[in-house]
Amino acid sequence: MKSYRMLIGGEWVDAASGQSFETENPFTGTAWATIPRAGTEDVDRAAQAARKAFEDPAWGQISATARGALLRRFADLLAENADRLADIETRDNGKLIAEMRGQLRYMPQWYHYFAGLADKVEGRVIPIDKPGVFNFTREEPLGVVAAITPWNSPLMLATWKLAPALAAGNTVLWKPSEFSSASALEFGRLFEESGFPPGVVNIVTGFGNEIGSHIVSHPQVDKVAFTGGDATGQSVYELAAKSIKPVTLELGGKSANIVFEDAVLDDAVKGVVSGIFAASGQTCIAGSRALVHRSIYPAFVEALVAFAKTARIGDPSRDDTQVGPITTRPQLAKVLGYIDIAKAEGATLALGGKRATEAACGDGWFVEPTIFTDVSPDMRIAQEEVFGPVLAVIPFDNDEEAIAIANGTIYGLAAGVWTQSIARALTMSQRLRAGTVWVNTYRAVSYMSPFGGFKRSGIGRESGLSAIREYLQEKSVWIDISGNVPNPFVQR
Ligand code: NAD
Repeated sequence: MKSYRMLIGGEWVDAASGQSFETENPFTGTAWATIPRAGTEDVDRAAQAARKAFEDPAWGQISATARGALLRRFADLLAENADRLADIETRDNGKLIAEMRGQLRYMPQWYHYFAGLADKVEGRVIPIDKPGVFNFTREEPLGVVAAITPWNSPLMLATWKLAPALAAGNTVLWKPSEFSSASALEFGRLFEESGFPPGVVNIVTGFGNEIGSHIVSHPQVDKVAFTGGDATGQSVYELAAKSIKPVTLELGGKSANIVFEDAVLDDAVKGVVSGIFAASGQTCIAGSRALVHRSIYPAFVEALVAFAKTARIGDPSRDDTQVGPITTRPQLAKVLGYIDIAKAEGATLALGGKRATEAACGDGWFVEPTIFTDVSPDMRIAQEEVFGPVLAVIPFDNDEEAIAIANGTIYGLAAGVWTQSIARALTMSQRLRAGTVWVNTYRAVSYMSPFGGFKRSGIGRESGLSAIREYLQEKSVWIDISGNVPNPFVQR
């Protein structure tokens, strides 16, 4: 059993209480490492360490170019350690090794991108309307950023916060999910090795329901960057409001993959399958609803089921596995519960529909790739986020109806459109109420392109040029250059 410690103020420590918890391998169902179980006292220490580091000239006074250099060094170390981290993530989280290697080899790009941006943040000189006064703006870091992240893409989703937050000059208190803390702690070693001053990145591991609200409401925390479920996101938002803290929230989704009658069917089938069965549907951008034009509905469903059946389920550490386990025990129960709900609602089960127990799955927490057809848009299976390999297929008759169904949930994270018509592609990309629209592709993300949700899928954007603004605040500076002190009782 490996035993991890957490990172507070540049030191690797146990929880003050001495408590720890076990982290399990979803493929074997067995514990493989222990993780410190932080309490509020540990959060206090981490928040104070982050504040101290923010105020220390070793971080607070270095140039933006020097911050960029540190981020580049981290990017290089990350690239060197990508495959090792991928192995750890697969063991701890059950993510496919093939996907993790790809994700980790790509991840350094975020640090290079924001490293480049660090010294291109500029203020403005305002051509102010008042004579004898010079007015300009400064862009300043917020201070201590709390990053709270989920288990489904642990390092990537943390990277989307840490890279811009550090580039902007903040310090960070990061709480990874209790289901995926091991890789976060390995990440901490690389921050240390890159030369970030102690306390700039602090990693506190523990349970959201024990320390989450203490982090969010902590007086030393200046901003909360959260990714997770929308119910947790709502409580984070409410709590942050009490101390008037800015937040970014990346929450859930019920994204629609819309297949029009003029789509290239084979491509659309692949797109729909990758949208829902990749990562076993445990992604916020899962295309968990397929909206299919009625004229091609029977042919599409037949091809979809046939292709989905070929997905190889099993050991996530094998290069050729396509569908891995569900990451957590509670999530397994939740996914199976939604399958029961869909059956009770009267949806037609076209594929899968139960826990997968074949030999390749061992004792792991697997759910068969599951497809429900004849789903109506008001069913719970068409409205609520399952976060598992469960697809709801819904027929539609015309473009207006497709838009209404696609937009007809509380979420607005992403949408896919399958068509050969450029006019339809442009109209759909305008009318779909989602932060990302993909046309004839799905699941593409980049460090250069903004990512975030409409409606209940979130607030703020990650990645891309504007993301660094989420970690900055603007200051207006006024300087009298007239030499005359005007009447102090009249506003200038
Ligand atoms: P979750 O909301 O249960 O937990 C997310 C994080 O919040 C964890 O670190 C958890 O410990 C912490 N937390 C729990 N209770 C808290 C509280 N009261 N205060 C503060 N923090 C608390 O989510 P999860 O189950 O880990 O992840 C799955 C969810 O994340 C899904 O709903 C998914 O859609 C969403 N997600 C969204 C995106 C996106 O970018 N939009 C990306 C990935 C996942």
